[in-house]
Amino acid sequence: MSASPRRRRSAALPRSVLIANRGEIALRVARTARRLGLEVLGLFSSADAGLPHLRLCHRAVELDGDPRAVYLDLKKVLAAAKRLKAEAVHPGYGFLAENDDFAEAVEDAGLLFVGPAPEQSRALGDKLAAREAARKAGVPTVPGTREPVEGAEAGKRIAAEIGYPVLIKASAGGGGRGMRVVARPSQLEESLARASSEAQAAFGDGRVFIEKYFEQVRHVEIQVLGDGQGGAVSLGERECSVQRRHQKLIEESAAPALPPRAAKKMGDLAAKLAASVKYRGAGTMEFLVPAGTTDFYFIETNARLQVEHPVTELRTGLDLVEEQLRVAGGLGFSFEPSKLRAEGHAIEARVIAEDPGAGFRPSLGRMDAVHWPSGPGVRVDAWAEAGLEVSPYYDSLLGKVLAWGRTREEALDRLTLALHETLIAPVVTTAPFLARVINEPAFRAGAYDTGWLAALTLEAKSNGKRRAELGANAAVLAAAERLSRNGHATVLPATWRGRPLSPWQTNAEDA
Ligand code: ADP
Repeated sequence: MSASPRRRRSAALPRSVLIANRGEIALRVARTARRLGLEVLGLFSSADAGLPHLRLCHRAVELDGDPRAVYLDLKKVLAAAKRLKAEAVHPGYGFLAENDDFAEAVEDAGLLFVGPAPEQSRALGDKLAAREAARKAGVPTVPGTREPVEGAEAGKRIAAEIGYPVLIKASAGGGGRGMRVVARPSQLEESLARASSEAQAAFGDGRVFIEKYFEQVRHVEIQVLGDGQGGAVSLGERECSVQRRHQKLIEESAAPALPPRAAKKMGDLAAKLAASVKYRGAGTMEFLVPAGTTDFYFIETNARLQVEHPVTELRTGLDLVEEQLRVAGGLGFSFEPSKLRAEGHAIEARVIAEDPGAGFRPSLGRMDAVHWPSGPGVRVDAWAEAGLEVSPYYDSLLGKVLAWGRTREEALDRLTLALHETLIAPVVTTAPFLARVINEPAFRAGAYDTGWLAALTLEAKSNGKRRAELGANAAVLAAAERLSRNGHATVLPATWRGRPLSPWQTNAEDA
């Protein structure tokens, strides 16, 4: 058969896919596409010619121009897809992943977009529109406005009705931008104006709305898959409350502080919402759970694959990229939804090139030594390799270290060891810090909310010893230096006993 790739007649996996992304997610997508026998196509900026996913690509093209801008350049990316004769485009996350115009341009060119149809991401990608869709599907939303707020007087009236503190959010927002907490009426007018101009600058859309601000809250989200025909399924929850500046650092499932019955109810409602818009592909419905309660309120949808999706893969045994590619090709899911089980406990730590001991300042430059962990129940999705450069142009996520265990305790123990084994030098990363975080008594007890980490870091700052421990750990750096000199190193503290609360503390004291 010589059917043109532009005219697909029957449901089938695409024969080729362009990965319109870089870093760990490009590698992640390439692995599944290779396994499924697709032709894997890549693109890269002038700064990225050495990225490891390119070794898995059958063919790749360089995007010329400013390396900061090329992955966001809709026209350039589309031209590359055409030049490589891609049948499908996988956007990963970030960059063009939630750009409706891009999805539309891809489909108009006769290619498959591996993600929701443009009208679905319009219906859910915008926060106000998503709140409306949720309300229609019977999903509880955070108390707040249904329309964009026009003017300070209207804003004040609404905020008084909701009750202070309130949160101003940009409808087009993301990454915490355009978001402002307002404690008192006297701050409202200025905050509205600032949030709106911030949103205008960042997203070209200044619409803002007001919702109730929960001072102590947990962030729990549901992974959903939709078949694009009105069928949708929940793949379970992820607890993502360990955040710095509203960005996630650790994600785990099951959610430790949410009873299974409440989590199931949340999952059922999220699937109902996805089904109500005939959602196609992988998506995440995010909810807030006020601390100490099992109540939950929908906040937004992420209409794409998320950084933390492997947490769900470890518990369900599914490959979400495979499901995405199947659904894009009209094949439906690879599994029978009623037989789906989420087993054991999974947890992910984001290894980011930032120095937690210096206010999470970016740590840039060439990585001389890189060693990622392995072992039973350990998974690493990472692009960082020795000799590569952490450039200032892109997101500083070097990789993700995950662990699965039959129990939460086993998963946490495995992740602790894996994070200690992770060595990157001389770039400083969040790995040792996160090993410490998951062994804090409050974390071990599952008693944390979205404000917990900031309070912990503040406490550490006022205590020099703890600060050293939480930051760039001297023992890790020394071991990493040995690694770069000798090619290997013994890095575990002599006192390691399988479940220490603070192995680095012991080590540092010994050193
Ligand atoms: P963005 O799309 O910019 O990431 P989200 O709406 O997903 O914004 O919110 C990001 C984080 O901000 C949440 O995980 C939570 O920590 C906090 N947050 C959002 N809405 C509220 C709220 N109403 N009350 C308290 N915290 C909130």
